[in-house]
Amino acid sequence: MRVAVFSTKPYDRQYLSGANAAFGHDLVFLEPKLDLSTAPLADGFPAVCVFVNDTLDRPLLTQLAATGTRLVALRCAGFNNVDLHAAAELGIDVVRVPAYSPHAVAEFTVALLLALDRRIPRAWARVRDNNFALDGLIGNDLFGKTVGIVGTGRIGALVARCLKLGFGCRVLAHDQWQDPELVGIGIEYGPLDDLMAAADIVSLHCPLTPQTHHLVNAATIERAKAGFLLINTSRGALIDAEALVEGLKGGKVGGVALDVYEQEADLFFEDLSNEIIHDDVFQRLLTFPNVLVTGHQAFLTAEALAAISETTLRNIAAAEAGHVLDNAVVAEAVSAPHART
Ligand code: NAD
Repeated sequence: MRVAVFSTKPYDRQYLSGANAAFGHDLVFLEPKLDLSTAPLADGFPAVCVFVNDTLDRPLLTQLAATGTRLVALRCAGFNNVDLHAAAELGIDVVRVPAYSPHAVAEFTVALLLALDRRIPRAWARVRDNNFALDGLIGNDLFGKTVGIVGTGRIGALVARCLKLGFGCRVLAHDQWQDPELVGIGIEYGPLDDLMAAADIVSLHCPLTPQTHHLVNAATIERAKAGFLLINTSRGALIDAEALVEGLKGGKVGGVALDVYEQEADLFFEDLSNEIIHDDVFQRLLTFPNVLVTGHQAFLTAEALAAISETTLRNIAAAEAGHVLDNAVVAEAVSAPHART
């Protein structure tokens, strides 16, 4: 199938081209993000392939449908950036990569937690400056701490297991369904409020849906344990960033590690080192000594990129052949309260 691949980075081209030897699709790699100004590049392409920060809202999907696009292939798991109702009405199928390497994201989550709590980026910056003083670098043992995992799907379950079995943490969990294997190893499910009140560390692993938008907000921060650490490798809009800044200023939030940010579409995946950043909330976040931000890289392992490429190209082949789309995303999945994504 002829596919316009938007938001292409060198690693996308490398891994998609490699996997495409087995599929033979006609992939046209395009560096720009997909938006109304770049949509004409997809004119006549039956499929577009996009990533997390390509926003496919109704006007954009209408434009794509008018110029012959019938398939949106997401090369990611999350699908909050697509108006699925509009896609269905316009006859555009949406497919995604539901699971590629949950290990990639889970391991990065634990890396962020350790780096934040043990002040590793600060220590490394000091050592590079021949400053070997340890003042200000005191961390905490993870052993015996209470960790709250919000969302125990593929990624959250791995993080929960690692912290429980590997580090000896007490692990609390909140989800709409309980994973019996996690219960079997002593992970304790309960309401979100109880988790927030008890956890020294909270890690977010649920999808972004209307129900989870700003799940961490001024009220939840107020109810949380003083000095708690917050880790988010899921989706930025799970957190109200302005409330987070206030929580950090007041000391209620003891530290934050973010791989995702609500307004990341204007920032992440680009080299903006010579630009003025106009997002004052983001800039304020970066001023705190106890905030660590990475630019949505938790997924970025060789194994994950290979799996993403293989599944994306297989999804496209299935659509081209008119087969049932195993990895289709349909509108109901967004609003169904118990949907696993
Ligand atoms: P998953 O679908 O396997 O698990 C999500 C879990 O969240 C499910 O168990 C679901 O029941 C639960 N959930 C849904 N609504 C909830 C709510 N209101 N409260 C608590 N739990 C709720 O998904 P996954 O593969 O584990 O991925 C989790 C998220 O990680 C994805 O949605 C995606 O946004 C994010 N992600 C980020 C990266 C990255 O590079 N940073 C990469 C992949 C995925």
